[in-house]
Amino acid sequence: MYKIPLSELKEKIIASGQISATEIDGRIKAKINELSGLISEEGAAHIIANELGITLVPQGGAKLKIKEIYAGMRNVTMVGKVVRLFEMREFSKGESVGKVQLLLLGDETGTLRVVFWNDQVDEIKNVKEDDIISLKDVYVKENNGNKEVHFGDRASIEINPEGETITSVRKSTSYERKSIKDLHGGEENTEIMGTVVQVFDPRFFTVCPECNKRVTEDQCATHGAVKPSFSYVMNTVIDDGTGNIRVVFWKNQTNHLLAKTEEQIVEYKDNAVSFEDVKTELLGEQFKLLGRVQKNDMFARLEFHAQIVEKADPEEELVRLEKE
Ligand SMILES: [Zn+2]
Repeated sequence: MYKIPLSELKEKIIASGQISATEIDGRIKAKINELSGLISEEGAAHIIANELGITLVPQGGAKLKIKEIYAGMRNVTMVGKVVRLFEMREFSKGESVGKVQLLLLGDETGTLRVVFWNDQVDEIKNVKEDDIISLKDVYVKENNGNKEVHFGDRASIEINPEGETITSVRKSTSYERKSIKDLHGGEENTEIMGTVVQVFDPRFFTVCPECNKRVTEDQCATHGAVKPSFSYVMNTVIDDGTGNIRVVFWKNQTNHLLAKTEEQIVEYKDNAVSFEDVKTELLGEQFKLLGRVQKNDMFARLEFHAQIVEKADPEEELVRLEKE
């Protein structure tokens, strides 16, 4: 069963013209009673749709818009624009090291996350934000209330396919805004908004140009001798009035924070003095940050790992305050 929200199930049934908006709740209740209450409202709505011959999702390998994609679907074909490229993360699994990378894909109807594991990560090593990606035969899971696309054996990806364009992206917000004082570590998909009160120098390190893993002395564990490229990480302290937290920005997020390109940032590697101006400019700026909260045991502090960095929008914040 696809994980279609109840409100959308109802809309689809009403749109078929077979049950009116005033009747729908009664019909769902009747179906639940008929099945001795052993079914959810969603389940009942699914059965009703099925009995009435209503197609809930487009059939037959059609290219789907993001709002037509639900958790539980398999063999999905879709096209989207890379809205955000998250950092590749490595993790150890027994003896071996695995890697995982996420990107946020968007179209005119919404956004969703796409997850790449291990060798799949290599397929997107040259992907940039604003690239168009076409996915075929992927499947969709739910993770913390978000739709997440994964690759099965038959899945394939095409980067910037001929003739595909995405004109605009509808941003969906599935992140929960929290006050910094309420963070305690382990939160995923969390949003904070605050002011930069301290900026640290970026740290640069060398990575393999093939697989993006860290290299020492120009030797990649997988690719042997390589000409390494540079990556970087930067920390700031953000204060939202309830407290402050150290925020970690990996490469792509640093680019967004500073509104600079990779080439421009790498130039600061040998020119720390000129970075002082960048720091001064950043102090007092307000940002909306989406990411996860992690306990850093070594330093006994909380860290916010930024996954999406946006300049705070005063109008949006005003609307939010009025709602509260
Ligand atoms: Zn390598």
